[in-house]
Amino acid sequence: MKNAQDLQSLQSTLYGLRLWGLRDVWLPGKATAQTRPTDSRETRELQGPETGPSPARQEPAQNAAAREAQREAKTKLLKEIREDLGDCRRCPLHRGRTQIVFGEGDAVARLVFVGEGPGADEDRLGRPFVGQAGQLLNKMIRAMGWRREEVYICNVVKCRPPGNRMPLPEEIERCAPFLVRQLEAVRPLVICSLGACASQTLLGANRPISELRQKIHVWRGIPLIATYHPAYLLRNGAKKADTWKDLQSVMELLASFDA
Ligand code: URA
Repeated sequence: MKNAQDLQSLQSTLYGLRLWGLRDVWLPGKATAQTRPTDSRETRELQGPETGPSPARQEPAQNAAAREAQREAKTKLLKEIREDLGDCRRCPLHRGRTQIVFGEGDAVARLVFVGEGPGADEDRLGRPFVGQAGQLLNKMIRAMGWRREEVYICNVVKCRPPGNRMPLPEEIERCAPFLVRQLEAVRPLVICSLGACASQTLLGANRPISELRQKIHVWRGIPLIATYHPAYLLRNGAKKADTWKDLQSVMELLASFDA
């Protein structure tokens, strides 16, 4: 271990991995504030019930008022986009869906996650990432020190592809304008694309996710970090460590906006 920074970075990595499910990471049972990572949001995550906004994101009153006004305007914008989507029949995916899964979260989120498309649970409930992959995404979000309702979550396609297959290019083409409008409405500080479909769609690239990750891309002026899809991580737990590195890059980027 070269220095204190290395130690801190290792601790942060271990906390993150443990928070989102790696059970054989040993950490001292009653860690003191000094032995925890500098980001005390992780500490709170381990300790307490979640009420009110995360302290790291509490704002002075005048900023809070401006943010509320912005939230109202952006929520309205998102509602308009949903209305324009309507009872969409622009591609054949509508035939197999139970309902459209538009997306959800804070309209003024600093961070947006973009997935591929709804699965069976999402199709049934009308909400993104509520199945097994969603449970893992929730853990990832919490390990980053956020709560799910503080971010915005959506997908490339809004209807479930049959048998959870990858959306076809023509389906993506029909649906992507709505994703673009959602992202433009929220205009977060950072976008995190989950898996090849979302990453390739937003970046107009067809390189594999392993080549797209670990770089800061820019989507219409917004920094974008690509990482593995939680469903892939459920099958390949070994990639969680790499994913945590990507999520740490997202956290560093977000922190750089506060500096
Ligand atoms: N996988 C996705 O890409 N999106 C969801 O909403 C759920 C699973």
